[in-house]
Amino acid sequence: MNVPMSDRRPESTVAGIPAAARDPRPGLSGLAADELSAWLESRGEAAYRGRQVADWLWRRHAADFEEMRTLPGPLRTALAGGFRADTLDGSAVRPADRGLTEKALHRLADGQLVESVLMRYPARPGHRERATVCISSQAGCAVGCPFCATGELGFGRDLDAAEIVDQVRFWARRLAVSGRHVTNVVFMGMGEPLLNLDAVLAAAAALTDPARFGLGGRHVTVSTSGVTPGIERLTALRPSWTLAVSLHAARASLRDVLVPLNRRYPVEGVVEAASAYADATGRRVSYEYVMIDGVNDTPADAAAVATLLRGRLAHVNLIPMNPVAHTAWLPSRPERIEPFAAVLRGAGIATTIRRTRGDEIGAACGQLAAERGGMPAPATVRRRREHLERAGAASLAGRPG
Ligand code: SAH
Ligand code: SF4
Repeated sequence: MNVPMSDRRPESTVAGIPAAARDPRPGLSGLAADELSAWLESRGEAAYRGRQVADWLWRRHAADFEEMRTLPGPLRTALAGGFRADTLDGSAVRPADRGLTEKALHRLADGQLVESVLMRYPARPGHRERATVCISSQAGCAVGCPFCATGELGFGRDLDAAEIVDQVRFWARRLAVSGRHVTNVVFMGMGEPLLNLDAVLAAAAALTDPARFGLGGRHVTVSTSGVTPGIERLTALRPSWTLAVSLHAARASLRDVLVPLNRRYPVEGVVEAASAYADATGRRVSYEYVMIDGVNDTPADAAAVATLLRGRLAHVNLIPMNPVAHTAWLPSRPERIEPFAAVLRGAGIATTIRRTRGDEIGAACGQLAAERGGMPAPATVRRRREHLERAGAASLAGRPG
């Protein structure tokens, strides 16, 4: 079933979905292997049934119990009574970027809508073909970064592990038709993953478990706007995932505006925590920096980033901002981006500029919301702009707010 185009605004912004509309059955893909075994054992099923179910779920990416033909009918019926084979009730897919990128809007059982994106990178000399899936961890987001379409929507709810994993299974199923596989997963869709860390950890465990989805840990990237305790918790677990930190500003007064979470977790502490993660895992931290014309792209900003990151195991991605409806902000021009990058490189910090928009990870995800039918009303957009100008003017100019 496809999500009707006329019904594209997340109901997260509409309070009170009737409880009856919620499906109480958990998603099967959210179960740890031992939980599934215990459930099968409680029904007197032999151990090999667990391997069969896992095969349908993780190798064939089944979305329906009826598909699981190697299982006896009564077991399929019992599974359907206790679980959902797929937690995505319906998805609308739209191609972008000459077909190499596809974006999906998924409807969850309670009507919430979330996005995921598939980005294919054809093989080139020395590089195998890659298929990266960008997934959402929450419906909406509470952090409220003013340049982000998801932030504008506000917070809906946390996704559970099955709802996160099923976004990856959705794309794996589509890729399988042409003999392809998902090679990378990035938590860069809607939501702040480290504010839903239990579900994100459970989902990542399923994705990297050789007996389940089987992705290499190094092929998973978690992006955070800077939830310091969450980064510390990750460090203690020492996963091999790449950590991406959405920096966007090094000066506190500016970052307070661009990433409001900075008031709670100041950037210096975030970078310290991220560096501890890098030291513990040996993995370079990726710092994302959305470049906004005349806002965070000045020489003073570049110098502040250089001071903050100098000597650290870090890599900076400069990403021209994707324009979104509720701000008047525009992407920085190349003549501002190049010298910015030069300052960072001069400080010994590896820096890349993402020139293509829409096709790249950070700029491709969390953006569908802005393109939805249900855009904010013009009056809302105007109020939002005025608020940003008022609240932000002093900070943006570098003066204490
Ligand atoms: N909440 C997490 C992960 C999801 S956002 C985080 O902020 O890191 C994924 C990335 O998309 C972030 O780096 C975010 O800053 C970036 N992004 C959001 N809005 C954007 C826009 N309008 N243009 C370009 N990148 C954007
Ligand atoms: Fe949330 Fe990330 Fe968007 Fe900020 S950039 S509002 S943290 S999704």
